Order: sequence, then C-alpha cells, then structure tokens
Amino acid sequence: MVELDQVLPESAAVNADGHLQIGGCDLVELAERHGTPLVVYDEGQLRAAAAEYRDGFAADGSPAEVIYASKAYWGLAMLRLAREEGLSIDVASGGELYAAIRAGFPPDRIYMHGNNKVDREIEELLDAGVGTVILDNFDELAALGVAASARGVRQRVMVRVTPGVTPSTHSHISTGQVDSKFGFPLAEGQAGAAVEAVRAAPGLELVGLHAHVGSQLLDLAVYGATADALADLAERLGSTDITAVNMGGGLGIAYTRDERPPSIAEYARAVSGAVRDAWSARGMPVPRLLVEPGRSIVGRAGVTVYRVGGRKVIPGVRTYISVDGGMSDHLRPMLYGSVYEPLVANHADGDPAETVRIVGKHCESGDILVREAHLPLVKAGDLIALPASGAYGVCMASNYNGAPRPAVVFVDRGADRVVTRRESYADMLARDA
Ligand SMILES: *Cc1c(COP(=O)(O)O)cnc(C)c1O
Repeated sequence: MVELDQVLPESAAVNADGHLQIGGCDLVELAERHGTPLVVYDEGQLRAAAAEYRDGFAADGSPAEVIYASKAYWGLAMLRLAREEGLSIDVASGGELYAAIRAGFPPDRIYMHGNNKVDREIEELLDAGVGTVILDNFDELAALGVAASARGVRQRVMVRVTPGVTPSTHSHISTGQVDSKFGFPLAEGQAGAAVEAVRAAPGLELVGLHAHVGSQLLDLAVYGATADALADLAERLGSTDITAVNMGGGLGIAYTRDERPPSIAEYARAVSGAVRDAWSARGMPVPRLLVEPGRSIVGRAGVTVYRVGGRKVIPGVRTYISVDGGMSDHLRPMLYGSVYEPLVANHADGDPAETVRIVGKHCESGDILVREAHLPLVKAGDLIALPASGAYGVCMASNYNGAPRPAVVFVDRGADRVVTRRESYADMLARDA
C-alpha cells in the first residue's frame, strides 16, 4: 500500500478494518451499496490535477490555455468539473461535441479534433459555433472551408503537424512519427502546404499550429524536439498569423510502483520553456500556448473495484482469479498490454502471499486484467481494486458478452454520488428493433 501511493489518489488510506478508502469513502462499503464492477473517481484528485495544470503554467510566467482531452473520460460530471475548473475542452467526434455542449462549455472554449471529421460533424461543429477546429488532412480542410464559406463565416483553425518525432511509448499511442494516420507530415512539405491552403481559403482563419506526439510519455525531451520542429515551420512560413501553438497532451502517469512520471509542474516548465526557447531563438514573438492533457488529469483519480467470483488453482502452473468485469469495462491491458498493480480492497493491509493472474469473465482467453499480481491470499467474495484506471477505461467500455457497463461514482470528503448509473439489461437492448 505505502509503496503504491503514487498510483492511488492522494486521499487513499487503509482504515481500521483494513479496507482501502478513497476520498474518505470505504471501497468495500461502496461496492456493497453500488455493486461491482464499480468505477470510483476521487473528485478532489481530479480538481487538484486541473488546478496543477492551471497554476503550473501561470507560475512559469507563461499562462497556457489548458484544454481537457475529453476522450480520456467524457462522463458529463467530469466535463462539468473541467468547465468549473476553468479548463477548455477537446472533442474528437460529434458525440463528444454533443457532451461538451450539454456540459455547458461555451463554444469558443471547444476544440474539435479527429482524423476523419465526416460531413455531418462538420455541419454540427459549424452549427455549434465551435471555437477552433484542428485540421488533420487536405480533404477536410477543403470541405470545412467550403461549408464555412457557404454560411458566410470564417472558421478559426489550427493545422495539426506530424513533426516526425517518435516518442518512447506503445506504438498504438505514438502519433508524432512520420508514418501516422494523424496530421500533416512536416516532411514532404505537407504541413507547409496546409498552412498555405488555409491562408488561401476564404472560409478559414489560421490561428496556429498543433502537434500531439503521443500518450503516456515519461520523457519530457520530446517536447523540446516538437517545439523546435514547429518553430522551424513557423519561421519558414512567416509567423505573423501563427500566434498560437498547441503542444497536445501526453504526460504519463504511474501505473506501477516503479514508474516515476514527471510532475504536472515539471511538464509545464518543460513545455512552456521549450516553446519560449524555440521561438526566441528564431527571433519570433513567443506564441500563445495551449496544451491538451487527458490521462494525467483523470488517470490517477480513478480506481475500479471488482468482486472475485472464483479461484482456480492449476498445480505447478498458475492460479487464476476471476472477477466480475474485464475487457468489457477495461480494455487497456488487452489493447496495449498495460500493466497494473491491484490491491485487495477488503484486505489492503495484507502482505503479498501469492502471485496470481486476474482475469475477466468474458469468453476470450486474452481477457486478462493483470498477468502477475502479487497479493494476499485471494478468495471468492474479495474485492480487487485496480488503481490508476481513470483514463481510457470506462470510456472504452463495451457490452461484450451482454455485460452492462459499470456505474461511476465520485467521492469527496466522505461523501459519494453516482454520476453514471449502472447500465441495465433493458438499456442494452433499448436500440434494437
Ligand atoms: C488523446 C489526445 C490528447 C490527450 O492525450 P493524453 O495522453 O491523454 O494526455 C491530446 N490531444 C490529442 C489530439 C489527442 O488525440
């Protein structure tokens, strides 16, 4: 428990009963009241991360617009929280845009992403008056320009550049390399051509450049390389209408006790310093800075709680512990081979006694949540807590095997509230004729 403190919300503690508690709430009690699997977010941790982003950049003398990347977890309660904390919002689809509007974001604080904004989404973003669109390819550049012109408006846009920076992360979440489906490659002159095409389009107004090179990044050096690449481009193209630069998201979090991610304050210093240095070195005025964190705001705040159903011991081979969720509510282990360090929530003070494999209840052998978990003796009825599961978890949930998607509760100073109710069987069939 003590070694895991980076991985859990700051409020995490073990109470007198040996139960793990978060935000002053006993996870065993929450599981009994709300059922499992249950996704628990520490609201104080969410707000603290948002504040750390705001204050981290301000402290460095270069305030940045902090744009929450909603795809990491786009529950309405989270979006409202991000709005209350003064963050802007990044959406990557018509659905996320709808949620941002429902959460009350003023349109000028909405940034629209996506590598394939379909015609309907282009109409929807123009209807909503979305502040800024991040352009990803020539076809949508042309389509958006035509659609905006037809309405007699000029849509503010940023050009997403693929700078040819390859960060050290899983290939599925690396986006800065030349061979990427995202953005205009700097190589081949496509990014420059995109900027020129925006300048020539009557329906579009250039705001600046964007780059998001990857996710779960633990090495801040990539931001220096990214800022240099963008500043080079701005210098070549003439920087008078490139007044803003969006450095994307990507800051990693600790999933295991030996991961030591940079703090948000360190990230803020590195990113604002990188942009300041890159632009100053070329004699250009330092642009307005935007960043788009997702994981590092919601990841550490979330803990998923499962109930153990069965224990299967194959002598000399392995012990399997089956829980009541799995790949349907938490796909990352299957998708990226992600590693987690679980705890027994009802016996969080116990010393490790065995190594087990924690598996879900789905009809797939690959439905593994934790390959090697070192835990006190686990038996049916125990509760497994998966720390650091607040990002890219419940937002990727599916109904595979007819699994209702889990309930989500926010906890804060001893109080809990359901922000998303558990799906019912009827909910799952509600759309079927
Ligand atoms: C996913 C994404 C982010 C957020 O990334 P994190 O690693 O969760 O911080 C930011 N910007 C864009 C364009 C993204 O696709």
